[in-house]
Amino acid sequence: MHIGVPKEIKNHEYRVGLIPHSVRELVRRGHRVFVEHAAGSGIGYSDALYQQAGAELLPVEEVFAQADMLVKVKEPQPEECARLRPGQILFTYLHLAPDRAQTEALLTSNAICIAYETVTDAQGRLPLLAPMSEVAGRMAIQAGANCLEKARGGRGVLLGGVPGVPRGKVVILGGGVVGSNALAMAVGLGADVTVLDKSPDALRRLDAQYGNRIHTLYSTGATLEEQLLAADLVIGAVLVPGAAAPKLISAEMIKRMQPGSVLVDVAIDQGGCAQTSSPTTHAEPTYVVDEVVHYCVANMPGAVARTSTQALNNATLPFVLALADKGVKRALADDAHLAQGLNLSGGVLCNAEVAQALQLPA
Ligand code: NAD
Repeated sequence: MHIGVPKEIKNHEYRVGLIPHSVRELVRRGHRVFVEHAAGSGIGYSDALYQQAGAELLPVEEVFAQADMLVKVKEPQPEECARLRPGQILFTYLHLAPDRAQTEALLTSNAICIAYETVTDAQGRLPLLAPMSEVAGRMAIQAGANCLEKARGGRGVLLGGVPGVPRGKVVILGGGVVGSNALAMAVGLGADVTVLDKSPDALRRLDAQYGNRIHTLYSTGATLEEQLLAADLVIGAVLVPGAAAPKLISAEMIKRMQPGSVLVDVAIDQGGCAQTSSPTTHAEPTYVVDEVVHYCVANMPGAVARTSTQALNNATLPFVLALADKGVKRALADDAHLAQGLNLSGGVLCNAEVAQALQLPA
């Protein structure tokens, strides 16, 4: 198969669909890989590295023209949608439900669009979203620790403390992928960490792993309030699948938190779990409400684009190889989990949730 890797064109997007290691795997199996000039240059993957891996470097119009399958990171921008052709495979994050314009452009293209975010695994989880949650969870502690410094508006607390001085208190709301990765970092820094979740299984799993090095609490209005009022750093990591994030933290509670405490609301991409949360960017990641520093960056993994790209490739490569080796029809027929990723094909919407959200026929 001919596989194309265009350079991402969304503002400040440095991730890339395939890294040279992935290219090498594909070329070894007899596929041809066309990579746009400078596609990975922002994260240390030079054109020379791609060539050494067996890629052929081309300008963008040729990458789109030659490829049977395009592997990307972000949803296609209008000029990219216009370059797609009927029957061409597009494998990337799409997030179509809130995006009618993109959905219509892709329907018009008649391309076969497989979305990373709806591919499932045997446990019903989302394996191509998980790596970004891992990155965001780990980054949340790094970002939060930084915001706790006085110069950033924080209360001047070092998460690990020092001998003779209390550790910083970290409260993590949600013990899923983001929460458990934040937890690993917070424990590593020596903070005093409490995780709240509604799922007894999630709490059991974390308790079994960390024992008495952490506190686990079943999340209720009362436990949440008690923890928030004592926290130096709060991480919002809750998710209700298919729904906006629950607003667990009211504006009233924010008013009562310690001055200079920090909220890193990772769930901001689903609307955020505090009433006072609104999305920010890496250029200006924080703002202050009632003396509480809010960090609400909606695309946290973009800041560590090299790590994020490598993590994403680890998760996508098996699917890319299956699509390339077997062709789209057989790859989807053989793997019901990959088939869940099919969002659009030949001008028809194949994902019921997207169709429902946009009130379009499926
Ligand atoms: P997940 O499903 O693995 O975990 C979510 C956890 O929240 C679950 O354990 C669930 O039981 C718990 N939960 C749900 N409602 C709760 C409540 N009322 N109280 C306490 N716990 C509750 O999800 P995840 O992958 O960890 O993602 C968490 C959030 O982070 C999502 O909104 C996701 O979109 C977001 N995210 C944001 C970024 C970013 O860059 N900002 C990156 C990746 C993920």
